[in-house]
Amino acid sequence: MDSNKYFEMLKYIILIFSIIMGTSLTTYQKNVYNPIIAHRGGWNAKNLPENSIASLKHAIELGCAGSEFDVHMTADNILVICHDSKFYGLEIEKVNYQDLLTYVLSNKEKIPTLEAYLKAGTKKNKHTRLVLEIKPSGISKERSIQIAENVYNLVKKMKAENMIDYISFDIDILKTLINLNPSVSTQYLNGDMPPMDLKALGISGLDYNFKVYKQKPQWIPEAKKLNLILNAWTVNDVDDIDFFLSQNFDFITTNEPELAKERLDELMHSK
Ligand code: MG
Repeated sequence: MDSNKYFEMLKYIILIFSIIMGTSLTTYQKNVYNPIIAHRGGWNAKNLPENSIASLKHAIELGCAGSEFDVHMTADNILVICHDSKFYGLEIEKVNYQDLLTYVLSNKEKIPTLEAYLKAGTKKNKHTRLVLEIKPSGISKERSIQIAENVYNLVKKMKAENMIDYISFDIDILKTLINLNPSVSTQYLNGDMPPMDLKALGISGLDYNFKVYKQKPQWIPEAKKLNLILNAWTVNDVDDIDFFLSQNFDFITTNEPELAKERLDELMHSK
């Protein structure tokens, strides 16, 4: 082989090698294990109000896999973000949105609408999923279904569909979403259904209280076998965080995303 041909071949080998390396590097980056979901946003360490836009932004800054939040609907059908069914003593579904504006969150934010939340959550954010909990109505099942439909329509209108994981304690809310669109991502919260039953309903995964998995550890391999998403709430202690990391949960929902990130880094370095 003359030297020209030899160098041509060497160049070719180097090119192929760098393509392979480049690809594997990208794949590795994409597949970095990061199961951390900030429960009601990243509020705790920063002393921000739960379910505020500031807490959502902080979860995104932290690089969380997801940021969770709770949705209720006012009497005049405005979807708002709040954990409890009452906001400063006002029963959300029995008052109009304007009435809620009498009060502000501790950081002076007004109670976020779902529209404002989705706007903030989709801006310059590709890595943090929006984990949207639909709270059932205390008035009627019909209203719960209506809330689910309104949420779905707003998410669609705002083109946020690909970033949303829906969660709910109410199985009928999840069924409504699946009827609207079988490809939506849904996780059931109530802890009382075995993985097989969720699979049969077309639900994507289970997001159960962490104690449920300790009482029914067989549900972990069962869910994995059925390709269901595994998520646990609300995992705040080091030992519990380590346990669910070691079980390779898809998601771990926590009030302590900074601590969970530390434990995750520790685990990655020890591998
Ligand atoms: Mg919640």
